[in-house]
Amino acid sequence: MTIKVVIAGHRGNMGKSAVQMVSNQEQFELVAVVDSKHAGKKMHEVQGAEPLDIPIYEDIDLCFGERSPDVLIDLTTPAYGKKHMESAFAHGVRPVVGTTGFTEEDIEALRHTAQEKGLGAIIAPNFAIGAILMMKFAQSAAKYMEDVEIIERHHDRKLDAPSGTAIKTAQLISEVREAKVQGHPEEKEDLPGARGADFEGMKIHSVRLPGLVAHQEVIFGSVGQTLTIRHDSINRESFMPGVKLAVETVMNLDTLVYGLENIID
Ligand code: NAP
Repeated sequence: MTIKVVIAGHRGNMGKSAVQMVSNQEQFELVAVVDSKHAGKKMHEVQGAEPLDIPIYEDIDLCFGERSPDVLIDLTTPAYGKKHMESAFAHGVRPVVGTTGFTEEDIEALRHTAQEKGLGAIIAPNFAIGAILMMKFAQSAAKYMEDVEIIERHHDRKLDAPSGTAIKTAQLISEVREAKVQGHPEEKEDLPGARGADFEGMKIHSVRLPGLVAHQEVIFGSVGQTLTIRHDSINRESFMPGVKLAVETVMNLDTLVYGLENIID
């Protein structure tokens, strides 16, 4: 069976790789892209888009109505990602979402709608398989070494901080350890923010620099030893096997799954 796909955010860094991945799979068919501009044009007529004879829509409801896709891949911003998901559910389309920056309330509301409609959906803050392994290994390590700090590093066009992966890592660690105050109990910041964001006592530090893609270190400390678990995505292609797996898997789901780790063994 051919899976008909619409991509929102096709001119972005992630979107471009997703267009190439979908176009190269025999079992997928790219039927349209959704853009904040260029309605009525074809992709090959627009600078910065892949040279394909695929229609561009600004109105996502019109796109779903006319093209009847099975799956939406969303790689935009959280505000639009949420609207796109709601529209997808209204049209019986299954969303696969890499967009990061959703709040817990957003995710719960979207989960509720997916359940009501009986439609599968996947939101994955990180589609890189290596990053999923990093999170799993970090959760295992936290059972034995409970003091931990997370340093995530991304390119300077990223809008949200900390990254969805850093938050997800902290959530997984918090499932296996009690919240605790780390560092000196009387420590104070002479410059606000010096110790990073706080997640149940874990500190999360966000670095934003040109030249970076997506990187994370989870550093555990214990008496006389440290353990560092590190993952680097050195290009956007690293995310595409995960996007492909999510598009295939979402067709067999009837609820929202958050996190790629929940669909790989
Ligand atoms: P990017 O290069 O800034 O691309 C974002 C794209 O979304 C742009 O082409 C933008 O178009 C488009 N867009 C914005 N609003 C839109 C709308 N209303 N309708 C259609 N398109 C719209 O960002 P990126 O690096 O590709 O990342 C995209 C998202 O994926 C971010 O949330 C990022 O954090 C996330 N991400 C996820 C993973 C993962 O593994 N899950 C990995 C990397 C990044 P304009 O230029 O016209 O605004």
